[in-house]
Amino acid sequence: MKRIDPLPTNLRPDALLSSLGIERAEDIDIEAIAYYAGLKIKRRRLKSCEAMITGLGDRGIISVLPDSMPSRVRFSIAHELGHWAQHRGQTVACRSTDIGKYSKNNQVERIADQYAADLLMPWPLFKEACKQHPKMDLKALKAIAERFQCSLTATLIRVIDSDRYPNLMMIHHHASAGRKWFRAAKKIPGYWFPRDELDAESFAFELLHNPDARDEGFPRKIGADAWFNTNGADRYEITEQSFRVPGEGVVTMLKLHEAMVDA
Ligand SMILES: [Zn+2]
Repeated sequence: MKRIDPLPTNLRPDALLSSLGIERAEDIDIEAIAYYAGLKIKRRRLKSCEAMITGLGDRGIISVLPDSMPSRVRFSIAHELGHWAQHRGQTVACRSTDIGKYSKNNQVERIADQYAADLLMPWPLFKEACKQHPKMDLKALKAIAERFQCSLTATLIRVIDSDRYPNLMMIHHHASAGRKWFRAAKKIPGYWFPRDELDAESFAFELLHNPDARDEGFPRKIGADAWFNTNGADRYEITEQSFRVPGEGVVTMLKLHEAMVDA
């Protein structure tokens, strides 16, 4: 069992950002922040993991793969910084399946992911950015993701956690058949639990199975029963919009009918 120490005040995401005078999303230079916290970044080939951290005393080295997407590297460095802040004195090696997945059964990895999101998408700046997009769709998501230089998936998780879009749910269907995970805005009742298998009528299905299909340009209406088995789902129309995550399947943004949330 790995030890989980309380977060030292000076390494809290908000403390780090304010120590460095960072007030704009564009200025969140993750390598400079890591350096300030006593960490060097090395890009190198790693065996069977995507990022790791080794440390001695108050100095350490974060290693990341040299050829990952820039947004992925940023999140990995911030995630390792989270381990540095909270799991000091251990060598932690993280597989790609450990980073950005908010693991339900691995508290250490979940804490590091939460730390990374808090550092790269601090709430005050993030909520301000959301304000400019009263309607959340793929176009708005891309604009916010670009601003914070985070992946669409990491940004969408934050968008849902922001509580600004009470009807929003995201579902990630993996390329390997049947596996999925989802995250829903807090107000959405638990009985709206998405079906395991993708409905052949959903656009997400096409995106997952047809390599020539392209991301949807705009949200599309579909019967809620395509996504939910719940009794009464056939009475509602919802909107769906999906995008592909290279190598990882398809993520769908579902906007539920208001009556499904307020019931
Ligand atoms: Zn980790």
